[in-house]
Amino acid sequence: MTSIIPKNDRQQALRLRRFFIGAASYAMWLILIMYCHYLGFSRLSYGWTLVAFGFVIGINILLYILFRTGLNKKFTDPSLTFPQMAIAALAAMVAVYFTDNIRGVMLIAYIVTMLFGIFRFNLVQYILFTIFSVMCYGTVILLLLNNHPNTITLRVEILQLVVFATILTWFSMVGNYIRQIRKKLSATNYRLNNALNTIQELASHDDLTRAYNRRQMYEELNREKAKADRTGGCFSIALFDLDHFKKINDTYGHLKGDDVLKHLIHTISHEIREIDSISRYGGEEFIIIMSGTDAKGAEECAGRIKNTIENLKFPGFPESFCITISTGITTYCPVESIDELIARSDVAMYKAKSMGRNQVVTEMTV
Ligand code: GH3
Ligand code: MG
Ligand code: MG
Repeated sequence: MTSIIPKNDRQQALRLRRFFIGAASYAMWLILIMYCHYLGFSRLSYGWTLVAFGFVIGINILLYILFRTGLNKKFTDPSLTFPQMAIAALAAMVAVYFTDNIRGVMLIAYIVTMLFGIFRFNLVQYILFTIFSVMCYGTVILLLLNNHPNTITLRVEILQLVVFATILTWFSMVGNYIRQIRKKLSATNYRLNNALNTIQELASHDDLTRAYNRRQMYEELNREKAKADRTGGCFSIALFDLDHFKKINDTYGHLKGDDVLKHLIHTISHEIREIDSISRYGGEEFIIIMSGTDAKGAEECAGRIKNTIENLKFPGFPESFCITISTGITTYCPVESIDELIARSDVAMYKAKSMGRNQVVTEMTV
């Protein structure tokens, strides 16, 4: 079933919520005007009042369709704030024109329209809107002078116009001030969010290789263990260690050794599935966690990675330069501890080393 406000588009949802605030303002206006009509303050006939109501409701339905179908996105300002406010201002001026003695009261309700756009307009837009509103009211006065001269007192109307223009200008200033504060707040929010992301990244990742750090690795392993214990599923891990890495450091220097580690882990992280993860267990030893994978699947994956690494070229190293890894694989056995699981993969990895390195060895529980 389609909802009144879209759930998957936060921006559109916000625009629609703002539209509903506008629609609620209209409803408030309509009720007030009905009340004026009931008390006999409106010059507009009952039939024409209903026509005006129909027009306002029709415009709101049209706006809702624009927002709900996404057609509003075709406009420069997809929130359609200016047209919405201009229409509201015109509708309010029609009410002001037809309500003789209580015109001043009607103008107060006009302020509601200003509040509606307070967070969207910049100072220029506010001033434009203020000029537009004052001109509308000026037109109302001229029309009244022309059509119903005996219903108005010009001095009072001019005073009202001056007060109206002053209040709207004041609103423009305050509105702009609030908008600036809001902008500063969202900039601070943005910076805080970035800082939080950096902190989270630093807390869970290894600085050099961007693989998960040990702490995050245990979290991932505990999560997999809990899932396997609950569902009876399985997962495997592959612990690998670089072969003769000390020699690389000794030959090319520690910094070049760092580059090798970075490039290697970058390559491997693109070889594994999205749901799998790679963590730095220590020095040049890493653990790949393979979710929902049995020993056979893990062997296939580790074999593929072994081949990729064997043939991997390292930028800034001689063409003949190559590196290999020794991998120990094991599968989680319910309900053993994480340390038992890692210890078993360690045994497998050392077997791979003793078998001449560049090997994948699997160690299972009996
Ligand atoms: P083996 O095949 O038996 O694993 O030989 P190896 O030389 O790789 O083993 P060993 O454990 O003797 O040496 C590991 C080396 O890895 C020693 C250490 O300086 C280096 N190493 C560990 N962490 C880093 C690092 O972050 N950067 C660099 N460049 N080297 C590192
Ligand atoms: Mg090594
Ligand atoms: Mg080592």
